[in-house]
Amino acid sequence: MTTSAKQPPPIGPHSLAPPVSLSPMPRRRLPVVQPSSLPPLYAAWMDELLAAPLPQETEATCDDCVMLPGPGEPVGGDSFDPSTKCCTYLPELANFLVGRVLVDRDPAAKHGRETVEQRIDAKIAVTPLWIAPPAPYRAVYEIATTNLEWGRVRSLRCPHYLEGQGFNCGIWKSRNSVCATWFCKHVRGAVGMGLWLEGIQPLLANVERALSLWCVLELGCDDETLRGLRPPSRPAHVPDIEHGAELRTDPVRYARLWGRWLGKEREFYAKCANLVDRLAWKDVLAIGGVELRARARVAKELFQVHTSPKVPHRLRVGPFEIAAMGEQGARVSTYSKYDALELPTVLVSLLARFDGRPTTEVTREIARTEGVDVDDGLLRKLVDFGILVASDTERPPRSTSASSRPLGG
Ligand code: SF4
Ligand code: SF4
Repeated sequence: MTTSAKQPPPIGPHSLAPPVSLSPMPRRRLPVVQPSSLPPLYAAWMDELLAAPLPQETEATCDDCVMLPGPGEPVGGDSFDPSTKCCTYLPELANFLVGRVLVDRDPAAKHGRETVEQRIDAKIAVTPLWIAPPAPYRAVYEIATTNLEWGRVRSLRCPHYLEGQGFNCGIWKSRNSVCATWFCKHVRGAVGMGLWLEGIQPLLANVERALSLWCVLELGCDDETLRGLRPPSRPAHVPDIEHGAELRTDPVRYARLWGRWLGKEREFYAKCANLVDRLAWKDVLAIGGVELRARARVAKELFQVHTSPKVPHRLRVGPFEIAAMGEQGARVSTYSKYDALELPTVLVSLLARFDGRPTTEVTREIARTEGVDVDDGLLRKLVDFGILVASDTERPPRSTSASSRPLGG
């Protein structure tokens, strides 16, 4: 189920679209189908691939952002600036996503449409494949992330961001693979982050690359255009016309790059959207070829891992950081500094019992000697967050690569 094209998304950039409104049924109550948190185009393709809904990341409460400081507290530490939230990011938008924004006549999409038009009209980092972050933006972004100031640098705020409380994404229905799959918190901790950032995001990024190039070919771009197109993600220190025309004004090269579509950039992007709109997932797979098939397999496998409630047969304690400690318990962080867990003191003191013996043996021992019931739900949570890990694995829980979003998808 996807968000109606007529309905403005009322809540945050990564969160869930509203439940479907059903007409009253005199006899039977239909189950409420949770809509996907992905943009409609991607949601339909992922429904086809996975044949089951992706998880709802309900801990990332975007309309009432969970990462903002408490009342009276200053912005700092791990909290985000209320005027930016996690949108200190400028999305690279594939040509068909640009087109989808341009052709969306919904009044609620006006800000998104106008800001995308402004990016096109600036002719900075605007190519037949993408509109991309200019080099100076990338440089500031790198400085901000290196200094752990991501989520707080106001000058980095996305131009598509909508001011005010609640829903903040002006291009929600056409946001890119990075914006659609980044969550500050995951219901299933590292398992959730693995699904989104190792499975769905790379898959959709691959889709964006394949389809944007396919559109260029379908729309009969000149050979010169093809020769001039660069991979979308180039290091910030390589200024070129794709990623920072303001560093080197080069109208001749811009004209060569656009060829027969010069001056008709908006029309070109709209045609890309039209082409891609007609594709079913099997068409996308055929266009994306072997790399996309491999990505799809990884995404499916991680989805299956995410749906499994299985607890490993043998567990040991994984590495984690203690962010704070008090008489009642400790706040520990494992896979992401944005998603710490509060553990009661009694539980912290019991963790060392998990030393690689069979899990049931350890939980029975704890129940017998301490009178504490460590049930499957609690074990699952500790495993999901990497506080306990399978004793036969050498792989530590991921320290976050999700503390910021990768510019360039
Ligand atoms: S910081 Fe988290 S809760 Fe806030 S808008 Fe971003 S993903 Fe949503
Ligand atoms: S497109 Fe901009 S406003 Fe929307 S989620 Fe991405 S960063 Fe935030």
